[in-house]
Amino acid sequence: VGDVGLAPRAVLLDLDDTIFDHSLTCRAAIEVVRGEYPFLRQRPVDEIWWEYLTMLNGPPPSTGVPPTSAAMREERWRTVARSCGADLGPDEVRALSNRYRAVYLDHRRAVPGAVELVRRLAGSARLGIVTNNEVAEQEEKLRFLGLEGAIDALVISEAVGASKPEPAIFHEALRRLEVAPESAVMIGDSWTNDVVGAEAVGIRAIWFNRFGLPRPDPRAVPELRSFVPPAEAAALVLDAARASRNEAGARP
Ligand SMILES: [Mg+2]
Repeated sequence: VGDVGLAPRAVLLDLDDTIFDHSLTCRAAIEVVRGEYPFLRQRPVDEIWWEYLTMLNGPPPSTGVPPTSAAMREERWRTVARSCGADLGPDEVRALSNRYRAVYLDHRRAVPGAVELVRRLAGSARLGIVTNNEVAEQEEKLRFLGLEGAIDALVISEAVGASKPEPAIFHEALRRLEVAPESAVMIGDSWTNDVVGAEAVGIRAIWFNRFGLPRPDPRAVPELRSFVPPAEAAALVLDAARASRNEAGARP
């Protein structure tokens, strides 16, 4: 079959906050729940939202058995309620947390342009999703987005037994897509997990930085601030993939 010019072989994508709009779904749900629970109006919605995301992205508690995602969510809501001056009992915390979860599911959405970007890329490269979370939850998100058919490998930390930025999860994605690291590009919003993690195994990274955050270190990594218009975003991704193969000595 031979080498088809400089066409990239594989594009790896993060899921949460790269394709699936976790952060803005979260904000929309907090806004609704805040309308229903007066004590939450002690604090501005964006303050609660930022605190909630910070807790979500922080390390899980390291004591005892690993908590379930429901238990961790209840803990986050206990903390938020306390910061608003409400000391809730276990049943009240559970009710609040469950209500948030239900509203969250109702407000799910894709990152603008992401679904079309994935569909465009699917015509040019093998596609993998590399994501940290539970299998059932991530599979459900992909179904919700209507993208199951467009993805060649869904690589989830719970199934692999390793999480980004650990090399093992990236190696598993490359193995399943049957590509070498220099033939792949990784796109993700997390500097540590997606950019640093991918580069550590020799995969070129593109930072998806839609909130315009400052660059945590000066490494030369292409950046995308939006996937709109998707055709332009796809072109940038494919160029980065080509550049990565050129540097690795790939021949036309
Ligand atoms: Mg992410």
